[in-house]
Amino acid sequence: MLEINNIHKSFGENTVLDGVDLEIEKGDVVVVLGPSGSGKTTLLRCINFLEKADQGEAIFGDLHVNLNKASKKAIHTIRKRTAFVFQNYNLFNNKTALENVTEGLIIGRGMPKEKANNIARNALDKVGLSEKYSAYPVELSGGQEQRVGIARAVALNPDIILFDEPTSALDPELVGEVLEVMKTIAKEGTTMLVVTHEMSFAKDVANRVIFMDGGVVVEEGPPKEFFQHPKEERTQRFLKRVL
Ligand code: ADP
Repeated sequence: MLEINNIHKSFGENTVLDGVDLEIEKGDVVVVLGPSGSGKTTLLRCINFLEKADQGEAIFGDLHVNLNKASKKAIHTIRKRTAFVFQNYNLFNNKTALENVTEGLIIGRGMPKEKANNIARNALDKVGLSEKYSAYPVELSGGQEQRVGIARAVALNPDIILFDEPTSALDPELVGEVLEVMKTIAKEGTTMLVVTHEMSFAKDVANRVIFMDGGVVVEEGPPKEFFQHPKEERTQRFLKRVL
């Protein structure tokens, strides 16, 4: 469904992505692991054009896109087919939970308000926020805010949802509720690419784990194999540190 070929990105002298390839099938839940600074977030941001890659290609179904020189139309199409869940939620503080979810549907998609409201209510119900349609972000816990962020992504009905460390800004006691929601939507067949440090999510929910270090993919495989029999020395060292 999504193929990324040979993506490169540097910030000045700092080479952050040094030729990353990635293939994602419909229904895949792919978790990207790796030490801090290994380029995981940048990879996600380049796929969604939040950063411009120096080089690389995305093949999105029938669409071939040069990630360095994409037309506005191609960027628009990829953004329509993907949704992003941010580490810091990125909600509009002056809008209610419902309005945060409808915004992309009404403004981005040109959907009539009533239809957008219905979809947004369903999405908020799915993440357990039926009681919070009218709440403003300041009235929500971090876990609830992130669940609004996930509802917003789900409501867009994208081909794939990109999660950028969705629980790393949360107090530890709020992490579980967000992972639970992610697990639920994964089980429903949502295609997901998830950057996270939550090993339990990688073990229990992912069907593939990718380990990045120094801007390259060092190793990838099904979680069981990856965690029990890591092949590469760099992977073994990383797992020793985090498990
Ligand atoms: P990870 O998600 O694996 O922790 P990142 O992709 O966030 O890694 O960052 C990789 C490297 O790129 C880091 O050294 C970071 O400082 C650098 N970096 C990320 N974004 C920018 C930016 N906008 N400008 C300059 N350097 C950046």
